[in-house]
Amino acid sequence: MLPASESAADWRQSLSDLITDPRELADFLQLDQRQNPAGELALRQFPLKVPRGFAARMEKGNWRDPLLRQVWPAAAEERAAPGFVADPLRERHYNPRPGLLHKYRGRALLIAAPHCAIHCRYCFRREFDYQGNTPGRRDWLAALGYIRDDASIVEVILSGGDPLALADRQLGWLIEAIADISHVSTLRIHTRLPVVIPERVTAELLAMLAQSRPRVVVVIHCNHGREIDSRVAAALGALHGNGSTLLNQTVLLRGVNDEASTLFSLSMRLFSENVLPYYLHLPDRVAGTSHFQVDLDSALAIMGELQASLPGYLVPRLVREEPGQPAKTRMS
Ligand SMILES: *Cc1c(COP(=O)(O)O)cnc(C)c1O
Ligand code: SF4
Repeated sequence: MLPASESAADWRQSLSDLITDPRELADFLQLDQRQNPAGELALRQFPLKVPRGFAARMEKGNWRDPLLRQVWPAAAEERAAPGFVADPLRERHYNPRPGLLHKYRGRALLIAAPHCAIHCRYCFRREFDYQGNTPGRRDWLAALGYIRDDASIVEVILSGGDPLALADRQLGWLIEAIADISHVSTLRIHTRLPVVIPERVTAELLAMLAQSRPRVVVVIHCNHGREIDSRVAAALGALHGNGSTLLNQTVLLRGVNDEASTLFSLSMRLFSENVLPYYLHLPDRVAGTSHFQVDLDSALAIMGELQASLPGYLVPRLVREEPGQPAKTRMS
């Protein structure tokens, strides 16, 4: 591993030097944009953001590449579809403090950072009110106060945006402040950064997590085995070696991973990198994402094939989030 200071500069550089121009991405992949023009409105609503290292894992000359499909601002996003709305989870109802969602018993979710390293077109928070939930230290103090006052909260989830997009100093402050709340026994980090910018897993980050009093669970977000290259594998190995429990969540996406063989390979690959599959999400019905929907019957058929071919511990749980429910809803 690189010396800490050098690798830190490295990931910050990767995070600030994203591909944001569809022309540049198309040229890099030797694709003709006229065949699949980027949607102007889609881009304005949710700009293109792709780390260069992630783009490098895409296949040249292939519009159907599963990694490209996750980030390309397709004109199809601009089609209005009945039942697809800005806030399908009604998260606004569970937002007791800016930057805090408390929806499920025992767990509270902190929007630790308002931005991500990548823009996934299907993102369920693409319409989230980050403006009103861009946390500063004062908001964090209010959110932490809420958690301190409710002893039933035993797990704090850092989510976002992407919590690992925070600088180590801010992240360290937040983790220590959470560790100071004695009834919190688990710190969970929901992040896509180890997959999209694996150099984010620095010696400093590892040291910070290793010192945490609450147990650390890192839930990565990986949708396709091809997202994992040797650098990602090294980052996951380092997190695992550090004592973190590693889980993965996947979103079931049409044209990306809606085949049993793809998800089978993903589970096997994750396990070889010490990651257990956790959730397979049916995509939320967020405006602009209807072209990614997989219908429930197809999803259940895929699950049947996975159950018949994988050990039980490598079968992800198929879930959907339904507003007003005490947990994510298992589909079976
Ligand atoms: C998904 C989610 C959680 C965590 O739920 P688990 O089933 O424990 O993974 C917590 N809070 C919110 C707001 C969530 O959306
Ligand atoms: S990394 Fe997660 S929160 Fe960020 S854009 Fe992708 S799906 Fe949305």
